Amino acid sequence: MTHLRLDSLTKHFGDVKAVNGIDLAVDDGEFLVFVGPSGCGKSTTLRMLAGLESITDGTLSIGGTVVNDHPPDERDVAMVFQNYALYPHMTAAENMTFGLDSGLFDRSNHDEAVAEVAETLGITDLLDRKPKELSGGERQRVAIGRALLREPEVFLLDEPLSNLDAKLRVEMRTELLELHRTLRTTTVYVTHDQTEAMTLGDRVAVLNDGRIEQVDPPQRLYDYPETRFVAEFIGTPAMNVLPVEIRDRGDALVVEREGFELALPDADGNDVPTGGAVGSSGTFGVRPEDVSIVSGRARDAPAIEAEVNVTEPLGDALLVHCTLGGAELKVKAEPRSAVEPGETVALAFDEERLHLFDDDGNAVYH
Ligand code: ATP
Repeated sequence: MTHLRLDSLTKHFGDVKAVNGIDLAVDDGEFLVFVGPSGCGKSTTLRMLAGLESITDGTLSIGGTVVNDHPPDERDVAMVFQNYALYPHMTAAENMTFGLDSGLFDRSNHDEAVAEVAETLGITDLLDRKPKELSGGERQRVAIGRALLREPEVFLLDEPLSNLDAKLRVEMRTELLELHRTLRTTTVYVTHDQTEAMTLGDRVAVLNDGRIEQVDPPQRLYDYPETRFVAEFIGTPAMNVLPVEIRDRGDALVVEREGFELALPDADGNDVPTGGAVGSSGTFGVRPEDVSIVSGRARDAPAIEAEVNVTEPLGDALLVHCTLGGAELKVKAEPRSAVEPGETVALAFDEERLHLFDDDGNAVYH
């Protein structure tokens, strides 16, 4: 059942078009993540959901009610901010319960509820401390506790983990997942970190320039990016993208550039989202893990040769930076591969995992 519905949701700040007509339905209990680069409109969208920013155009409904003009305390949403927004002069417990007696969040029996939430978050021993006596991770737990206590219909989280160190961020990520699995509260989460987006989201909406580029479950986004922007934004190391000429050979599409020619196998069974006409030029995309270095004897297909520039041991893989027809191409090779800079290697591409984008950046082949 749809819980949140955004129809052509738009926000302009004077001439700045921060959010440019977003259409999205978030299901009851879903964990939806907005991800995108700085300035793409993530926070503004979330603030419109919270009622902290007015809506220029479009409609926002929560639970079937249009709430465009409802103030924040009439929306039954609770927001967790990047900077935690705790009152410095109040204890953790006071911060959590502050304002709980007003508006929608009139919950009786605070003490029991606080104890329960504190237990869930592992902060029982910290309830009497002031924010300055807490670590970043502990403050974040208190901020989450404050939101949990309100038992809202919808959680809104704006980069809640970005002030934590890398290790704590991963731990808190897992805790958030567990919390969501237990509570199943509809959640909208904003981050610029694609790993966070992929690990947390039931679905991930990739935002660019105030618009949704694609919204899909994480694996689908990774395997079938509908635009070149999504292809390059999702995945570390990023997908290789090479400008190519495209030729229709009749039985197959052939992509070519200096030192490189490849017939794309029939895409039957794969997904071609746009189905649009393929022009004579475009961008070929392949992820580093879908390219392999083949040794001389094992080659059977016509070799694509590249020169090795640099190798980077990642521990579980060797990242090999090559030059292919003047362009850079990264290959995620077996760890401990005997590959040296300056060497010429033969490459093989995983035929099932090739992508082609037209000159407008839309996928025309997977
Ligand atoms: P970040 O990850 O850096 O926080 P974001 O994706 O959350 O970025 P927003 O904060 O939503 O981006 O901003 C979107 C655009 O709107 C930006 O160009 C920003 O400069 C602009 N903007 C945001 N708030 C205001 C404001 N109050 N007045 C004018 N412009 C604003």
